[in-house]
Amino acid sequence: MKPVANFDCVRCGKIEDLPVDCQRCPYCGKKRGFERLYDSINVMSGNTRTTGKVLEEKLAPLYERHADQQAGAKRFAEASAEAMEKTYEKATPAERAQMQPMTGHVLPAGGVLSSMSTQARQDTRECITPALLNRRVKPAWTK
Ligand SMILES: [Zn+2]
Repeated sequence: MKPVANFDCVRCGKIEDLPVDCQRCPYCGKKRGFERLYDSINVMSGNTRTTGKVLEEKLAPLYERHADQQAGAKRFAEASAEAMEKTYEKATPAERAQMQPMTGHVLPAGGVLSSMSTQARQDTRECITPALLNRRVKPAWTK
């Protein structure tokens, strides 16, 4: 198959998938006002096609793995939601009051930080976060 492109004819409008070397409009035969449009990427040379085939072959297992991961993540989310529901059903009213509302949303950072003790916040700031971010922090007592 030869490379194709879209063309625009003044009389006939947009014509899709004509050979790239087309000189005249296939419908009205006019040459003037008939020009190629560079609006789509469907021009494929032999070399590009070969590369595409090779890439498709190489990428197939990666696409498969990605699909598996997506499916696994979805299964995990469903299973965890189910487990939370079961736990909520089994819990006593007092425990239910302690549980977070099951909205499926993450708590806002401000609320979490205000509920932490001062010592825990300092530990997080000086030890845990730098370790996670692989960053060195000077402790407060050296300043
Ligand atoms: Zn035409």
